[in-house]
Amino acid sequence: MRSIKYLGMVSTILASLPRRSKPSRPDKSLARRLVLLGPPGSGKGTHAERLAAEPGGPHLPPGDMLRRAGAAGSELGRRAAGFVAAGELVPDELVTEAVLARLSAPDAADGWILDGFPRTVGQARRLGELPEDRGVELVLVLEVPDETVFERIAGRRREDDDPAVVRRRIDVYRKDTLPVLAHYDRLGIVRRVDGTGAPGEVYERIVAV
Ligand code: ADP
Repeated sequence: MRSIKYLGMVSTILASLPRRSKPSRPDKSLARRLVLLGPPGSGKGTHAERLAAEPGGPHLPPGDMLRRAGAAGSELGRRAAGFVAAGELVPDELVTEAVLARLSAPDAADGWILDGFPRTVGQARRLGELPEDRGVELVLVLEVPDETVFERIAGRRREDDDPAVVRRRIDVYRKDTLPVLAHYDRLGIVRRVDGTGAPGEVYERIVAV
């Protein structure tokens, strides 16, 4: 049952996601359809952006989209704000269809990089319903210990970077997102990369996968 309200929200999300005007095949990329996962502060946003800029294919970060919607005061933003501020995941139905719709946009036809999605097994299952030639090819996990997460996050200032909220986001990652990795491990498409060290070093490890 999709209300007009719901469709309105989806179009808000679509409008807020970055678009590239010219699709380009990610010839140097590890995979054309890549999911980057890792705990908060693991650097997935930074690396996803760089991967998207070099080999091409839109980078789709739902966390940014939700924060932008919050700043814009849209309905999605209002509905998501409490969850984001508390370090909880936003309910699947608020993000899943919007992300999937974005993946069918023309500029995503040749590949995409998802950063922070799927974060629940429900989201992964829904993504898994895409035809094989449009589905996930590779899941790259950036591994960093909790201490590193706290050090890194202490150096940035975002509303949801309060230490108690970060602790909650780490717990949520363990509870909801590690099962997503188990799901993809069963499919044999997960590669793990050491996410510690300077961004340049981590990037070299990623492209060497
Ligand atoms: P981080 O990886 O540092 O936790 P993100 O920017 O990826 O930061 O996410 C920030 C917040 O946005 C999350 O704590 C959560 O509330 C929400 N969020 C992001 N991606 C999803 C998703 N796939 N499903 C549900 N909520 C999400």
